[in-house]
Amino acid sequence: MSSSASNVAALLRAGSQTLDGAGSETPRLDAELLLGHVLGVGRATLLAEGDSVVSAGQQETFQRLIERRASGVPVAYLRGLKEFYGLALSVDERALIPRPETETLVGLALDRIAARLTDAPRPADARPLLVWDVGTGSGAICVALAVECRRRGYAGDVAFQASDHSSDALAVATENAVAHGVADAIEFAQADLTDIPGAERADLLVANLPYVPTYVVPTLPVAASFEPRVALDGGADGLAIIRRLLAQLPHAVADDGLALLEIGADQGDPLGAAAGRLLPGWALTIHDDLAGRPRVAELTRDQGA
Ligand code: GLN
Repeated sequence: MSSSASNVAALLRAGSQTLDGAGSETPRLDAELLLGHVLGVGRATLLAEGDSVVSAGQQETFQRLIERRASGVPVAYLRGLKEFYGLALSVDERALIPRPETETLVGLALDRIAARLTDAPRPADARPLLVWDVGTGSGAICVALAVECRRRGYAGDVAFQASDHSSDALAVATENAVAHGVADAIEFAQADLTDIPGAERADLLVANLPYVPTYVVPTLPVAASFEPRVALDGGADGLAIIRRLLAQLPHAVADDGLALLEIGADQGDPLGAAAGRLLPGWALTIHDDLAGRPRVAELTRDQGA
């Protein structure tokens, strides 16, 4: 990057050139997010202020971030945050960076929660619905759900439980719950999938477990190599961990409950085969994301099963 760059526009040009050369797929956006981070302003302000002069200290900080990004570190880790479902979530190397495709799962979960709360009259003494986020990672799914439930006035009608094998991930998730004012609504537990002795069965179980086949992990964008491998690697065919969860669903999901699981875009058929074997009598629906790719498996316990 040229050391003569001193205003916003010049810094963005130089920064995105460096990132382009380093192979970033979104060099300009990366540079904008990083300079906005250094200056403490959003992208809109940044773009309106192309002529603003940037201090030498801020230029140096920006330059260092550009170099780290050029070496592959994801923008979200450099900024320490990622936008997800309209929330700014804290993220760092302890947890997977929330992906936009997971918002599809959150939207479906909200629809199911709303249907359960509003389709039939609820007795005044009904216990809250229990939503269980298995493999919560940064807490993205359960924090987004809890915030949205509170906004819709459902807060007292829905309780959340979030589990993860990684205590590091749970620390990040707890920080996010606190930051967004929903820590009181979510109970966090360290557990292997749903293995929490004495846990109540969930009305709605949601999970974005690792599902990338082991041989595909090294081919992911270099940014993914900075993320916890255990959050991505789903074994030989990508479904090893999801299959373990499927086997646990009869114990973890209430009789009239359901599960929503994120899957890879090409995993609908193998997931269906595994569910047919492990969950006889359960109904499976595969939902597409906004791009029309299958992304969420919905498994409903047939009440006769
Ligand atoms: N969608 C993520 C990716 O392809 C994978 C997330 C996951 O394994 N749960 O990088």
